[in-house]
Amino acid sequence: MRCKELEPLAVPFVDGELADADGADVRAHLAACPPCRTRIDAERAAREAVCAAREGMREGAPPALRARCARLCRGRHSRRWISLTLAAAASLLAALIWFGGTDAGTPVLAAQLTLDHVKCSKMNGARVSGSPVQLAAYWRERYGWPIRVPAAMNDRVSLAGVRRCDSSEGGTAHIMYRIDGRPLSLFIARDGGRTPRIFDVFGHEAIVWSSDDRTYVLVGREPRQEMEALAAIIRKDLPLQ
Ligand SMILES: [Zn+2]
Ligand SMILES: [Zn+2]
Repeated sequence: MRCKELEPLAVPFVDGELADADGADVRAHLAACPPCRTRIDAERAAREAVCAAREGMREGAPPALRARCARLCRGRHSRRWISLTLAAAASLLAALIWFGGTDAGTPVLAAQLTLDHVKCSKMNGARVSGSPVQLAAYWRERYGWPIRVPAAMNDRVSLAGVRRCDSSEGGTAHIMYRIDGRPLSLFIARDGGRTPRIFDVFGHEAIVWSSDDRTYVLVGREPRQEMEALAAIIRKDLPLQ
């Protein structure tokens, strides 16, 4: 099996849904391929974040939605386990957690990018590193639209690099930081007009705001007050030149 062949099997493998022969092929490949092991670990971490968050889902959600979500996260040996892509799981959970809210697309975005933060933090290898100016230049040349990369926001935060995430194919820039060694992400999307909001999603804080036709989403596990302070520093550093 080649790495490329493993890709479509990653989610069903993590869900325990592959036929025995396919599962054995995947395991054999993983035993010999550290990058694919990292890839599977990241998928697993994201899945665990989704299922852990289910416990906190809002009571007011419609029963059918709650039931779908319960099946999604049921024990892996159950026959009723439903395989969903993580993007679908994120949308479902966002709908559960925020059902009844306005500005419906924003919680889905926050949930998807939080899962991306979880996965990409586990797959640090593919990022591009450099100074803020170098990273912004890289992004503009590579993907044809400008971003401004904020420097490290305070002395506890360091800039780790930028990533093109598989899920967004260059449509969202993922700028990675470390805060006291823990991952912190700033996402920049090519649209604007979102109302500023803060979400508690998958055990993370996700702060969303728009400025100059860009949407920014800061994701991390630091206390909310701390996250808000970091977002305020970034905002002061904007707008785009
Ligand atoms: Zn591989
Ligand atoms: Zn990413």
